[in-house]
Formats: sequence, structure tokens, C-alpha cells
Amino acid sequence: MHHRLEVLVKELREMGLLVGVGSLLSWDQETYMPSGAIGVRSEQSALLASLVHEKFTGDRFSGFLSDLMNSDMDDFSNSEKRLLMEVHRDWKRAICLPTSFVSEYSQLVSHAQHVWQEAREKSDFTLFQPHLEKLVEKSREKAAYIDAQKPAYDVLLDTYEPGMTTAYLTPLFATLREGLVEILHRLPSHEDVLSDRVFPVDKQWDFGIWFLTQMGFDFSHGRQDKSTHPFTTQFHPHDVRITTRLDAHHVMDGFSSTVHEGGHALYEQGLDPAWFGTPLGEAMSLGIHESQSRMWENKIAKSASFWKGQYGRFQALFPEALSDINWETFYKAVCRVKPSLIRVDADEVTYNLHILIRYELEIALMDGTLKVSDLPAAWNKKYEDYLGICPPDASQGVLQDVHWSCGLFGYFPTYTLGNLYAAQFFEKMKEEILDLDGCISRAEFAPITSWLRKNIHGVGRGKTPQELVKDVTGKSLSQEAFIAYLLGKYL
Ligand code: ZN
Repeated sequence: MHHRLEVLVKELREMGLLVGVGSLLSWDQETYMPSGAIGVRSEQSALLASLVHEKFTGDRFSGFLSDLMNSDMDDFSNSEKRLLMEVHRDWKRAICLPTSFVSEYSQLVSHAQHVWQEAREKSDFTLFQPHLEKLVEKSREKAAYIDAQKPAYDVLLDTYEPGMTTAYLTPLFATLREGLVEILHRLPSHEDVLSDRVFPVDKQWDFGIWFLTQMGFDFSHGRQDKSTHPFTTQFHPHDVRITTRLDAHHVMDGFSSTVHEGGHALYEQGLDPAWFGTPLGEAMSLGIHESQSRMWENKIAKSASFWKGQYGRFQALFPEALSDINWETFYKAVCRVKPSLIRVDADEVTYNLHILIRYELEIALMDGTLKVSDLPAAWNKKYEDYLGICPPDASQGVLQDVHWSCGLFGYFPTYTLGNLYAAQFFEKMKEEILDLDGCISRAEFAPITSWLRKNIHGVGRGKTPQELVKDVTGKSLSQEAFIAYLLGKYL
């Protein structure tokens, strides 16, 4: 490797270590930290974040980077060029925002989050409205700092899903919406046979750990704990933490969350440690990350093959709750589809309609065609049109998600992109892994994990999501594989 590039990589690795320390503090805050420590913890986290920011945007690092960017690119291999391009992209985004804007924005967000919580509890949108107006305005400003030539929403979207544009996404999502609405109308309804049954949480924990082990989650380089909101965090590919939330009355919620976070964690454990701290050792995008969690959660752990093969093991853990239910009845309950108001509780068919609603509203807010004051009515109208239900109040409607109060515009589409990527990858995997259904049925997941390692995890940010999809599946991203998968599974 070029000597100056080696120096840059060493600097990035140090920043990666610092970021990891910050993430470890956040993990602790969500799991074991005593509540009285919150004051000092916020100080610690803010200090680390500013150290990393100063290091990354300071003269020393900026000098190394511009030297390299100005040198003869023929001196570098393709992956080294790619690394430089991605570091430069991150660096440009980090230096373009004036310090005064960053501090004003972060104060606005922390205040808005606080007000949003209160507004949600009181189900009163008017409390949150002036803050959301400010957030929309500041987000437009932020986008203009990053790239004034592009529409604001495209700039924000590109933050989470590099290379993605509304010009590509809007027609894709419109076709997807038609397909989903049609499936929804044709679906038979199933009884919820699992309600009123009790599943001891220690046995739920054991089943989750068993599944993670089968997935290839490496417990010598990771662990699972409990938290109010399940999440995955990583300090290095050799230390990846997940959390879950278990409830004796909702057995599938806890299991799904373990598997979902397990999918995220497997991706992080599969990144190349040799490139730690650099873009080549980082996850490609939020959408690709979500494709990993969703694939394990929906296509594997909620598949007929899995439950046909493993229901006996599950039933033996919960003899009292499940003695009168066979695997087919259980599977139908697991895959029950019913339009509901809350996104995070939605089934796999209706989930994306929740996302499409937010996507359409966000674009309208950002380009000014929808006023924030008209947002609750627009929200309700779309729920009526797409899902046939109407929120009785704002807390079950427009105020349900935390994202907008954090200034996260352009983030929601990555959830649906994750589902579309997952379907397309899974279709390809089916062609390439002999007897994939048999493997899933026997819970022998090693061929799946190694396929994901080889095709997706090890790539890091070495490609854009669109390039990855094309290279792995031979096709550009579309809704086709996902709609075909839903039709096969549900109709
Ligand atoms: Zn996720």
C-alpha cells in the first residue's frame, strides 16, 4: 500500500476505535447504566463525538486527504481508489456544515424530541407543530449546505442510501403500492390463536439463543442483552452487541426481534476487520443493513419450512401454551396479516404501506406542497386510502414515530428498500444454494450465512447498493421479487 494511504488508514482506524468507545457508552446507557449517571454519560458521549469530529475535520487529517486526492490515481488499486472516494464523501459532508448550524440543529433536535414525547402522551399535534416546522426548515437548510444543486429530499435520502434518488424511488414505490394494495384485498383472514397464551420468558430467551447460534452469531465476539427498544450496536467486527425485549404474552415479538437484530449483527460480524475504521470495513447503507435483518426475520424465521421442521422443538419448550396447536395453525398465526395503525407492529404485507405513506408525506413537506399544519389530516387520509383504517387520535397516527422529531427525513424509505433488496437477494440465494428449504427446515443455516458473507458482508462500502444488487442478482432493483415472494407465501 502507498505510504501516505497507510498513514490515512491508521488515522481512520484510530477514529474507528474512538467511535467504538462512544458506542460502548451508548450500549451501556441502554442496558445497565444506573439512571443517575445520565448527566455525566451525556458529557462523556458529547466529548468523544467532538474529539472524533475535530480529528476528522482538522488540518492534519484534511491535509493528508487532500494530498492523496491530488496525487496520481494510477498509483492506487481499485479498492484503494474506492476507499479514498468514500472517505472524501464523508469528509465533505462533515466540513460543509458551519459549527453554529450544527450546534443550533442539535439543540433544536433535543428540544423537539422532548416536546414530541409530551405531544404523543397528550395526543396533541399542535404542541409539536412549531418544532416540526422548524425541523423541516432546518433540514432544507442542511441539505443546501451539503449540495445546493439537488432537491433537498434527494440530498437527505442520499445520506442514508448512497446514490438513491426520488426520480428512481417514486415510480418504484408507486408500482409497489399497487401490488401491495391488491394483495391486501385478496387475503383471507386468520384467527389470532396465540392471544391469551403464556410463554415463559426464560424459555423464549433459550429459543432465541439457539436460533442465533444456528445463524452463526459468534458469541465469543458478541452478546445479547435486554433493553426497552431492541437494537444492534458494534464497536468492531469482533464485538457486536444486540438486545431484545421479551413479553410472556407476545412470544413472536421477542423471537422476531432477536432474529432481526441477529441479522444486523451477523452483517457487522462479517465486515472485514482488516479494513476496520475505513469505509471498506463499514456497512454499505441502511437499506442493505435492513435487508439482512428482514431476510432472517421474515424469509427464514417466519417461513413454512422453518416451522414445519422446528415446531416440535418450540412446542416442547412451551407444552402448556401449545399442546392443542399443530404447526400449520401456529404458522398461520405467525403470518397473520391485518391492517393496523402502528408501523412497528405491522405485518410483512402492510408494513411497506406504512413506509410509503411517510415517504409521500416527507417529500411533500420538504418541497413545500404540504404545510406542517395540514399534516395530520393528510396522514389520516392516506391511512384511509391505503389501509382502510383511520387513526382515532394523533398519538396512534402522525405522532407515533420518533424519526421526525430527530430530524430524520429521508430515513424511512430505507426500511422498504431493505425488504426489496432482501427479496431479490433471497431469490438469487434460492438458485445458488441447493435445497435451501431443506436447510431452513433443519435449521442448518451455515450455507446461508456463508453466502451472505461472500456476496454482501465482506464488500463493506466497496460498492453502492445499486451496484451490489446488480452484481449479486444480475438485475437492477425492482419490486418484482418482493411481490412474487408475498404472492407465493400469502396467496
Ligand atoms: Zn432493523
